Amino acid sequence: MFDNLSDRLNATFKKLKGRGTLSEKAIDEGLKQVRMALLEADVNYRVAKKVISDIHRRALGQEVMESLTPGQQVIKIVYDEFSTMMGSAHEGLNLGNRVPETVMLVGLQGAGKTTTAGKLALYLKKQGKRPFLVPVDLHRPAAIDQLKKLGKQLGIPVFDSTQEMKLGDICRAAEKMAGQEGFDTLLVDTAGRLHVDDGLMAELVELKKMLNPVETLLVADAMTGQDAVNIAGAFDKAVDLTGVILTKMDGDARGGAALSIKAVTGKPLKFIGVGEKSTGLEPFHPERMASRILG
Ligand code: GDP
Repeated sequence: MFDNLSDRLNATFKKLKGRGTLSEKAIDEGLKQVRMALLEADVNYRVAKKVISDIHRRALGQEVMESLTPGQQVIKIVYDEFSTMMGSAHEGLNLGNRVPETVMLVGLQGAGKTTTAGKLALYLKKQGKRPFLVPVDLHRPAAIDQLKKLGKQLGIPVFDSTQEMKLGDICRAAEKMAGQEGFDTLLVDTAGRLHVDDGLMAELVELKKMLNPVETLLVADAMTGQDAVNIAGAFDKAVDLTGVILTKMDGDARGGAALSIKAVTGKPLKFIGVGEKSTGLEPFHPERMASRILG
């Protein structure tokens, strides 16, 4: 078997005769390999189909470049298509000028929200910002404690939420305290559930109204592959995401979820989680993800 798409494509094209333009037969043969690579990388079936038809359209009739083999040329077209789909540069956080600005983190339980809240706090602190962590998962006291502990480790203040408080009171008090203490970014760690459900979404919609966040970021687990895509669709519909953070990319997930989430929600991937430690956060680079997906 061939290890990566590049080897597969070169082998495919070696068998095919004909120079000049990329013939339809050559493209179809090449795209079979591309489709296989996409599905192996856990790219959503519908998304893979669309990618293939777009690439087909781009490739048809293209002159074979002197400097590239037909295999390399198809790879180039595939990469160009991926860049168009995933965005060509790192987006980062779009923080505005209000003080404080609010970033709301949403996602299912276990996706890595609390861990990511700590990572983002550290990331902002390194940029000279003054983040303030706000736990609002009032259903699980353990989640509140987890964030308080993390904040202590990182030297980042955490609002002293308790289960007895009301969501609205926490939001107002945290904003007020941020104003008094000079914290410029509230990082709100919301409740998660094991599955998407109406109760969770209703709570998040209410929170979003109260907080008016500048960023509403979905934290999704890359290891869940196709599920992550459906989850992203459901969250986006309910709370209108501004971006996605894909966690656990240090595992063996090939990253097909990244391409599919962008295609399904239209929302940018902003960061990837690459470890359990608070330093395990990296900006999302579309071209690196493209290589990872294509193998
Ligand atoms: P939450 O329920 O969404 O708040 O999830 P947690 O933040 O508690 O994370 C759930 C588990 O995933 C914990 O064991 C984390 O250490 C782990 N985790 C979170 N992000 C990453 C990551 O990027 N890589 C790895 N390997 N583990 C992660």
